[in-house]
Amino acid sequence: MKYFSTRNKLESNINNAVLKGLAADGGLFMPEQIPVLPKEFFDTIEEKTLPEIGFVVAKAFLEDSVPDEVLKPMMEEVLNFEIPAVKVKENIYSLELFHGPTMAFKDVGARFMARLMSYFSEGKPMRVIAATSGDTGSAVASGFFEVEGIDVFILYPEGKVSPLQEKQLTTWGKNIKAFEIKGAFDDCQAIAKQLLADEELKKQFTLTSANSINIARLIPQSIYYFWAYAQLKKIGKPIVFSVPSGNFGNLTAGLFAYKMGLPVEKFVASTNINNIIPKYLESGKYEPKESQQTISNAMDVGNPSNYERMKDLFHDKVESFREIILGYDFTDDQTKEAIKEVYNQTKYILDPHGAVAYLGLNKYFQNSESNAVGVLLETAHPAKFLEVVEETLQQKISVPEKLEAFNRKEKKSIKCNKDYDEVKKIFKEI
Ligand SMILES: *Cc1c(COP(=O)(O)O)cnc(C)c1O
Repeated sequence: MKYFSTRNKLESNINNAVLKGLAADGGLFMPEQIPVLPKEFFDTIEEKTLPEIGFVVAKAFLEDSVPDEVLKPMMEEVLNFEIPAVKVKENIYSLELFHGPTMAFKDVGARFMARLMSYFSEGKPMRVIAATSGDTGSAVASGFFEVEGIDVFILYPEGKVSPLQEKQLTTWGKNIKAFEIKGAFDDCQAIAKQLLADEELKKQFTLTSANSINIARLIPQSIYYFWAYAQLKKIGKPIVFSVPSGNFGNLTAGLFAYKMGLPVEKFVASTNINNIIPKYLESGKYEPKESQQTISNAMDVGNPSNYERMKDLFHDKVESFREIILGYDFTDDQTKEAIKEVYNQTKYILDPHGAVAYLGLNKYFQNSESNAVGVLLETAHPAKFLEVVEETLQQKISVPEKLEAFNRKEKKSIKCNKDYDEVKKIFKEI
């Protein structure tokens, strides 16, 4: 399968698309067409395991660029934790994407990308760059930690990630380095893009991106939409997915699954007050803005990078977006109310991102006659947002040992202003 950039339709193969991350014209790579899976796959999907489904989905995008005997064990390793669809209440399920090593959904994409890059790079030294608003960086760090020949540089906004998230970014050592930038996530993203496009640096290093702009992050994220369907198929109702969104990689992966033939009634694009896409769906105008800080900080994005891919999928027609996506946005107060309400009704604890998705589902059901089952994508474990969740519920919640282990380690970061030249200088010297 060929891959093309979203801007000038530059052609690439998958190896190059994964190793480059961003295309030379600044666009994002997209497959020539989204592969459609055969009907038989869906007929027996409930009999398959998560890694088996993962293999079929990955294979559809990679074709023969990775041999089956490499891809099969790769998928078993990537998907070596459970992703259960847990019933929260009647007709509402939480697809728990947080059982990986850093307890956020980005583990899925990062673990696949790390293994695929390592396979394609054939042992040549490489520098991976990732801007993060919280969870990307830790998932990427975990995915690449101690991978031979690959150094990882993470850029995160000072004071804008939770204390635990910060520990998960800054305590790895070895091949993982963290830049703590005095600025917002958008500044980090801008600097990352500039580093990746810097001709001087490109002569010196093989550079690549680990943000959700990398197609290797998106492909595996499609898998769990199929897995949710496999688990809920027996209920015999259509599915609505509510996706708590920032850069819209997760939702775009859901759209891939849909185009591959997965039956979906609708996607709800649920956001916090950084509501660029809900606004776009309403007005037809795409108006990026500076991001605003919220309690669901992994979604504080003012110019969602995967809009470019969605635009490509829908041929830039807002009417086509609207056929399958609805967008709703919510404030921090509403998010806290949702955490309280769900806990009081069911004892299920949502994290702030999952709570935004829950609100999106509720609004969808209020505004439609739908008899679908709603699936909210629970993208992080609530203990990753301990301060907010405990304050909201007015009680202590238990922290899994996997997370406690990070808290005990010592932070090491490189502090920088949001100044490209300052970051570049240090980048060149370490
Ligand atoms: C990254 C992240 C999101 C947003 O995902 P996108 O693919 O950027 O839309 C939502 N929740 C959590 C916990 C995240 O880490």
